[in-house]
Amino acid sequence: MASVLITGGAGFIGSHTCVVLLEAGHELVVLDDFSNSSPVALERAQLLGGGSIRCVRGDIRDPACLNAIFANAQAADTPIEAVIHFAGLKAVGESVAEPLRYWDVNLCGSRTLVAAMDAHHCRTLVFSSTSTIYGEPTRFPLVETMAPAPIHPYAQSKWAVEQLLNALAATGSWRIANLRYFNPVGAHPSGQIGEDPLGIPNNLFPFITQIAAGRLESLRVFGNDYPTHDGTGIRDYLHVMDLAEAHAHALDHLLSAAPETALTLNLGTGQGLSVLDVVHGFEQATGISILYSICARRPGDVPRLECSPQLAEQTLGWTAKRSLADMCRDGWAWQSANPHGYRR
Ligand code: NAD
Ligand code: UDP
Repeated sequence: MASVLITGGAGFIGSHTCVVLLEAGHELVVLDDFSNSSPVALERAQLLGGGSIRCVRGDIRDPACLNAIFANAQAADTPIEAVIHFAGLKAVGESVAEPLRYWDVNLCGSRTLVAAMDAHHCRTLVFSSTSTIYGEPTRFPLVETMAPAPIHPYAQSKWAVEQLLNALAATGSWRIANLRYFNPVGAHPSGQIGEDPLGIPNNLFPFITQIAAGRLESLRVFGNDYPTHDGTGIRDYLHVMDLAEAHAHALDHLLSAAPETALTLNLGTGQGLSVLDVVHGFEQATGISILYSICARRPGDVPRLECSPQLAEQTLGWTAKRSLADMCRDGWAWQSANPHGYRR
């Protein structure tokens, strides 16, 4: 039986995707250096998904490690037929401070991965891209034909990888899906796996759940003078389980597609929500009050990001099904059961 390699499979989106793929009966190999995750996430994903994962601790920039993974899978009669590539760095501010590290891990890491794939005749890849490659758009909803205009090294490195992958697909022997995630939040409904940022969260949703858990006091709302219905920034939040299911759809689609396929798909709900919509939605779903104050805008933030997910629906037959209330309820189930994340 063939297997699927998941890079960064222990991370937030990767661990949820592992559960969905195990449930669908896939054999999985995870490559992760655990620089931003815990092996406990994989142990729990296996229990939830009802299967076993072969886990390799290593770096996507290490060709010897990658070659061994492909060779060992072949020798075990479970050749790797496709890769889902989550491994990478994702903090916008950090990318501005450390551009070399971001280009190295995100671009050079992806280049090393595809070179190993090519050498082992595995040419089917699902890639984690980001809504931030649209830069500071002024027309909504965002559609995939709009020209990317990334404004920081994180988004620039992701756009560079998309272009590399599109060039590979154009050679006629690769099948590629560039998935542009909007804002994934929430957790598996069991509360067993979820988002576990190191240190104080940069992102809105884990900040809110950590306030609810008593780890943080008050949310700083970054700006209430944006041109939006309540002045706070709008994003397209989607449940991480919906996003995980999109990967299963993309994988199935590519595995039966022609060898010069290159998909680029927005993954979101299409329904933008403001910071205060999320705060109030969380309060309603959980009954917990979230203390907040209005502060200055955060440098680099854009007023609004909101997609059209229509192409993903037409191409994959996928739509995000879960509501803001589901995101809040499940995110809180995770945070309340694991107030310190995987660090028990
Ligand atoms: P995450 O940090 O939780 O997961 C990334 C995983 O990759 C972690 O387990 C980390 O240990 C691993 N990793 C990092 N560098 C590695 C390396 N050099 N070699 C091997 N493993 C390495 O992040 P996530 O939120 O699950 O995001 C997954 C992917 O999706 C990332 O590529 C990210 O850029 C992209 N993305 C995330 C979001 C989001 O809001 N979470 C939005 C858009 C795109
Ligand atoms: N945000 C906020 N306070 C925080 C973190 C985020 O007001 O502590 C706002 C931020 O300005 C943006 C939205 O919440 O409008 C989503 O931010 P996040 O960092 O979660 O995602 P991204 O900026 O990557 O879309």
